[in-house]
Amino acid sequence: MTHQKALIIGCGISGPVLALFLKKIGFEAIIYEAKSAHRDDAGAFLGISPNGLNVLKEFMPLDDILTEFTPGKMTFYNAKNKSIGEIDNANQQELYGAETVQLKRGLLNQKIRQVAIENGIQIEFGKKLTYITQTDKAATVFFDDGTSVSADFIIGCDGIHSATRNAIFPNAPALAYTGLLSTGGFTKLENVNDLYGSIRMTFGERAFFAYAVSNTGDVWWFNNISQEKEPERNELSGLELAQLKSKLLALHQNDPAPIADIIKSAHKIEIYPVYDIPFLKKWHKGRVCLLGDAAHATAPHIGQGASLALEDAIVLAKCLRDLPDLSTAFTTFQSLRQERVQKIVREARKVGDTKTAPNKFQQFFRDLLLPFFVKFEAKKMDWVYSYKTSWGERIDAI
Ligand SMILES: Cc1cc2nc3c(=O)[nH]c(=O)nc-3n(C[C@H](O)[C@H](O)[C@H](O)COP(=O)(O)OP(=O)(O)OC[C@H]3O[C@@H](n4cnc5c(N)ncnc54)[C@H](O)[C@@H]3O)c2cc1C
Repeated sequence: MTHQKALIIGCGISGPVLALFLKKIGFEAIIYEAKSAHRDDAGAFLGISPNGLNVLKEFMPLDDILTEFTPGKMTFYNAKNKSIGEIDNANQQELYGAETVQLKRGLLNQKIRQVAIENGIQIEFGKKLTYITQTDKAATVFFDDGTSVSADFIIGCDGIHSATRNAIFPNAPALAYTGLLSTGGFTKLENVNDLYGSIRMTFGERAFFAYAVSNTGDVWWFNNISQEKEPERNELSGLELAQLKSKLLALHQNDPAPIADIIKSAHKIEIYPVYDIPFLKKWHKGRVCLLGDAAHATAPHIGQGASLALEDAIVLAKCLRDLPDLSTAFTTFQSLRQERVQKIVREARKVGDTKTAPNKFQQFFRDLLLPFFVKFEAKKMDWVYSYKTSWGERIDAI
């Protein structure tokens, strides 16, 4: 396809990266972000693995994002503090050219956005998409400030609660609550230092807890709480820090040190329900296509949401570069991505299921089986991490 104008909805992880790829193929792309200004302190942290890092490398040296991180190596423990397995990333650099790390979500967003701005990408804040119209010549986005803009096509990079998805598929299935809440944050703690060089995951007696020490000496942590009933809107945001701490301390009261100390030392705790989206039949309609979480949000249990969104960005840009029209490009993009993405979403669900609260009887069997499960899962990650799309390779229509 030759020069086209694109509107990208959302300036999270995939939006700016897609804009950079589109610029590379001579398309014009403008990003529209709902937030009135960037908020780089929002969110906790996320894992990003070689398959995602290799996409970022197209635009930035990885050292630029490795200013604050925790290691990607994972060690697993049961509630009695018995080691039950590990996922070691020592050979990832050699095998895949990059090594899994955990990064602050805000910091990653900021660095990616900066690279986009340095490359002349226009980003408009305070532009919340409300609806979309399209004709056979153009697509138009309407924002909640009453303005609108038209272009050849629109890409919805607007995350798990995508308004683009709702606009083109008003009858799409609603988000699926996975039965887990997640809490997390950053703290400082005396006497906890990088003894393990890994993110330490504990299948606690009543809830799951993970923590790691960052390169700057802070403790980064998260927990998963099993809660069958989906929380009401605003139910969680109203919780006071003290209430949250006592809830977490009660859940982890019999779990190994320093879990309780980490909770006690927290000054801020993020809490949110964990969702994924039921598989969509189609990711595109006419001149509009969904990408990243908007198309296929996954629960975060195997740390793949951001990496998948980055993989999507390079594949979609190649489809737009190599294929003759939008319809072929969008259809091919979905065909190339769907199977892999759905397999990963299923894996994440499976891992999430191991974090739900077992009774004593179930706990006994869980602890017995977990070492095998962890070993098996670790082996199975190669096909996830080894994914690489070469920018130079052409894509043919499917
Ligand atoms: C708490 C949490 C922990 C996570 N942990 C991990 C992890 O460990 N590993 C991992 O890989 N992934 C993790 N994820 C998922 C990861 O953050 C997402 O998969 C990733 O950010 C997806 O990128 P995206 O570009 O599709 O969407 P996002 O990065 O979510 O970006 C969406 C953007 O769209 C904007 N937007 C939303 N609605 C509108 C609108 N109507 N109009 C305009 N703009 C709009 C949003 O403000 C946002 O900036 C986690 C997610 C959460 C919430």
